[in-house]
Amino acid sequence: MQLIDDHVSTDGATVRFDVLTELEQAHHNPEIQQLRVHPSDSRAGAHVLAEVEVLDVPVEEADAVEDTLTRWVCSCEDFWYNRVDFGQPVSEWGECKHIRNEVRSKRAAADDDQQTLG
Ligand SMILES: [Zn+2]
Repeated sequence: MQLIDDHVSTDGATVRFDVLTELEQAHHNPEIQQLRVHPSDSRAGAHVLAEVEVLDVPVEEADAVEDTLTRWVCSCEDFWYNRVDFGQPVSEWGECKHIRNEVRSKRAAADDDQQTLG
């Protein structure tokens, strides 16, 4: 499936998100942990999501343990234009519907595990 590449690019081996390039330049040291592809509802193609380990604030201000967090970013327009705020800590950023779906499906899987255990 073709990626919608407005805010992400790939050469086949690596995926580059505009948002992560910006975070790198702002010294948030983002590192991609895993990738997901979600077909778009409204356009031909797919968005790509990444779970990233990232510093909440620039490394100069960060506590390496307390300010390291894991969160999802997305390549869609809604995330780029409405959810990202480079003036705010990363933990204050919003979630597009693709991220909400990803987090919800993960939580559902965790609940299933609980039920299996119980
Ligand atoms: Zn999205």
